[in-house]
Amino acid sequence: MNAAKRSTATTEPGCNADRKIAIIGGGIGGLTAALALARQGAEVTVYEQAPTITAVGAGIQITPNGARALHDLGLAQALDDASIRAQAVVPMDGLTGRQVARFGLAGQAPPYRFIHRAALIDLLASACADAGVTITLDARISELHPDGSFQTAEGLVRPDLTIGADGVKSVVRGQINRDAEPFFTGQVAWRAIVKQPDAEAVARIWMLPDRHMVTYPLPGGMMNVVAVQARSQWASEGWHHTDEPGNLRAAFANASWDIKGILGAVEDTNLWGLFRHPVAENWWQGSIAILGDAAHPTLPFLAQGANLAIEDAYVLARSLNAAAQLGTGLDAYQTARRGRVVRAIGAANANARNYHLSGVQRHVAHTGLRVLGRVAPTVFMNRLRWLYGHDVTA
Ligand SMILES: Cc1cc2nc3c(=O)[nH]c(=O)nc-3n(C[C@H](O)[C@H](O)[C@H](O)COP(=O)(O)OP(=O)(O)OC[C@H]3O[C@@H](n4cnc5c(N)ncnc54)[C@H](O)[C@@H]3O)c2cc1C
Repeated sequence: MNAAKRSTATTEPGCNADRKIAIIGGGIGGLTAALALARQGAEVTVYEQAPTITAVGAGIQITPNGARALHDLGLAQALDDASIRAQAVVPMDGLTGRQVARFGLAGQAPPYRFIHRAALIDLLASACADAGVTITLDARISELHPDGSFQTAEGLVRPDLTIGADGVKSVVRGQINRDAEPFFTGQVAWRAIVKQPDAEAVARIWMLPDRHMVTYPLPGGMMNVVAVQARSQWASEGWHHTDEPGNLRAAFANASWDIKGILGAVEDTNLWGLFRHPVAENWWQGSIAILGDAAHPTLPFLAQGANLAIEDAYVLARSLNAAAQLGTGLDAYQTARRGRVVRAIGAANANARNYHLSGVQRHVAHTGLRVLGRVAPTVFMNRLRWLYGHDVTA
């Protein structure tokens, strides 16, 4: 193939035409990759362990960097229909309930959005079906051979490329990386959805000593709640552990009345232990690649887990489409992605410290935010331009 004439656009056929690609994991990253690759002519099958594609989970913030890729894949309208456009990020004093500052998001292009994880999965799955992707459910892949082949109920699958989009407990990551033990960060997070709409389409960050809570509205008059507490007690990692709402309320017993009102409406909640995982050294080997949480589990303090997975998926498809050799494309993919992901994860880790301050440090930090909000509100968002302004479609 003539490299100079080759298309690199994500939605046009290039070298991916007729490639047989298996994707393990039908989450946000896996489905985005499936859609992008199928649009380029690849024959894509997704193997998802769950019996249905109807996702569990609460809200997700789709920031402009992730939205750019989804828009390029033709999903702008579907996203608009299923989400709420965010107007601002509003840091709050979680002890007094007072607003500390307000940083506008309305000018972000593409828009910053709040969406339910299930709605995002649904619209991706529907676009995948239209693009000819085969989604095989109830298909847990427990082992991968070094050549990327694996066993299913139907027999041995031998694709040209196997992509591990199998999340934080990825089996594919271990196939191409040495074992790396995650460690407990000393923080746990509850997530819940309550029927208590915020009057404004804003993300509020309620800051308290050793705790913080993020709330934002979701379509249908709901509010998404993620509440984080620093504690030495270990809690296991994963999205499926339920907890008593009373434990969540007790953790925020000295919070402002607004927080108590929100938490009083919680009927069901999930608790998960927050673990730090090193970013994988190898994102590909031979005909195996990984993306999203499988390559870099991300703490939820910068709302980037889903956005980085979407970016990965887009760049992987484009890099492969532009390269005559699989290895060249996969190498270009890792080179384009790893540095950015390390930076984003570092920024997320720092946020937890900043939200949980106490005493004098807390006073100084809140005063700084207050002044910034009054004098130069754009400075705050400009400092995140490297994150939100990144354009994987460029
Ligand atoms: C159940 C669940 C709920 C979540 N809820 C939220 C939330 O409320 N808010 C938020 O910000 N983020 C949430 N996340 C995380 C967020 O969706 C991810 O950080 C982000 O989307 C990265 O996507 P991913 O595709 O890399 O991984 P994931 O979204 O984790 O998707 C991985 C997929 O792979 C499947 N899978 C795993 N192992 C195998 C296997 N061996 N064989 C076949 N399939 C396999 C899983 O069932 C899952 O569908 C949730 C994740 C999950 C799995």
